[in-house]
Amino acid sequence: MADYDYDLFVIGAGSGGVRASRVSAAHGARVAIAEEHKVGGTCVIRGCVPKKLLVYGAHFAEDLKDARRFGWDVPEPCKFDWPTLRDNVLAEVERLNGAYTDTLESHDVEILHERATVTGPHEVKLASGETKTAKYILIATGAWPHVPEFPGSEHASTSNEMFHLETLPERVLIVGAGYIANEFAGIFHEFGSQVTLINRSDVILRQYDQSIRDRLLQISMTKGIDFRFHCEIEKIARNDDGSLHVETSGHSPMDVDLVLFATGRVPHTQQLGLETAEVEIDEKGAIVVDEYSKSSCDSIYAVGDVTNRVQLTPVAIREGQAVADTLFDDNPTAVDYDCIPSAVFSHPPMAGVGMTEGEARNRLGSIKVYTSDFRAMKNVLAERNERALYKMICDAETDEIVGLHMIGPEAPEILQAAAVAVKARLKKSDFDNVVALHPTMAEELVLLR
Ligand code: FAD
Ligand code: NDP
Repeated sequence: MADYDYDLFVIGAGSGGVRASRVSAAHGARVAIAEEHKVGGTCVIRGCVPKKLLVYGAHFAEDLKDARRFGWDVPEPCKFDWPTLRDNVLAEVERLNGAYTDTLESHDVEILHERATVTGPHEVKLASGETKTAKYILIATGAWPHVPEFPGSEHASTSNEMFHLETLPERVLIVGAGYIANEFAGIFHEFGSQVTLINRSDVILRQYDQSIRDRLLQISMTKGIDFRFHCEIEKIARNDDGSLHVETSGHSPMDVDLVLFATGRVPHTQQLGLETAEVEIDEKGAIVVDEYSKSSCDSIYAVGDVTNRVQLTPVAIREGQAVADTLFDDNPTAVDYDCIPSAVFSHPPMAGVGMTEGEARNRLGSIKVYTSDFRAMKNVLAERNERALYKMICDAETDEIVGLHMIGPEAPEILQAAAVAVKARLKKSDFDNVVALHPTMAEELVLLR
């Protein structure tokens, strides 16, 4: 290994890259990591963390309103100051950037704050022009928002910009109906913006269970979010007053203050020099890897969003850990992708693990579905007419739980714990055997009929 500058050179200090570098260094490897922006990557800098803080901030709109029914004297109107929340969130992001940097440095990982590209199976080139060699290279460059080309597409914003807005838009048009679209629709709506969401199909969050996503759609529409389906943007032009005039297919034109594109994220492989090491990419630009995250080049590995397997932080982290254990701990490790829980931090949030009802019917044939459709006690007193829905899917022959899906207050918190049972292949009868913890929302899980 002494022939190379490093044992491992990581490109991209996001969720996957940071974990792989830190653990590889702890295993005794000489590690360097190149980062062209901030240490922490999408999740910490412009994804999960600042997004969740905005979700918390937005939810106070409902909490403050409900508080009156619980006896609190909340002034009407109750004022919200966007710059205060924005700046506090950005300060927290800076703190985390520092904490991630400290962690890497304390593990003797050398951080190079510049862009890096691959120039061969064992060589990378830094933006400064310097070249470095390594026995292994790990590509962990993440993904980037996809905005289709159309006249005026330069006026479109992406989730990257949402954390830095000067002012809150009065009217927002969100394109797409996936994770980011539904999360930001909730955030902007709670802050008082008028939100319109358009999608090319008539489905929201297509990978989630249909009854759960239908419930989110129904609640969101009741709240006043305007959904337009089979609708695509044809043109955006800037009006004299600075607002945006949007023309769409099949629907009337709109004037809005912000257009947020949330139409998926594409793997970050452009101009990365992958061809110099014959690293194969697929038709979506994702690096093709085997179960150990090794690419078509023996010395180059890839983890996280750049491989387009499952674009979630905990998955990128697991993949990074597995590469470190495989390469430097003599412990070949493949990530287990079965039963990955996921959540949408909408208002209310939804979460799921395992097969949806549709998938289970197709794959198993005979299934049993148990549901609880209820109004949370807090919502009843608050006169908030918003019902939660829990759904358990079981294999009819074995009684094993193959899927669990929820929408309602704290659904992601509850599902994280319940996912252990689904992953462990527990049965419906195991849930029935547990005494309810009363009064909670989660007790519905052991009372399902
Ligand atoms: P990233 O974290 O994107 O890191 C890649 C890094 O590489 C970046 O820092 C980038 O600057 C750097 N880089 C790229 N090219 C180069 C180069 N050539 N040289 C040097 N550096 C380079 N996931 C969840 O699990 N839960 C959530 O709630 C959630 N919310 C999200 C909200 C939003 C708005 C977004 C956009 C994403 C969200 N995600 C969420 C997804 C999650 O952020 C990603 O799956 C995760 O960050 C992927 O990690 P990664 O290591 O693959 O890449
Ligand atoms: P999603 O894949 O969740 O949703 C994309 C949406 O855009 C879909 O409604 C899709 O429509 C539509 N769409 C896709 N391509 C086009 C196109 N070319 N033109 C018009 N519409 C299009 O992507 P997001 O951007 O919302 O998020 C990216 C990823 O980030 C997610 O997949 C997720 O892995 C991760 N993420 C995770 C979060 C979490 O864990 N809570 C939060 C935010 C992001 P249709 O499906 O109907 O065809």
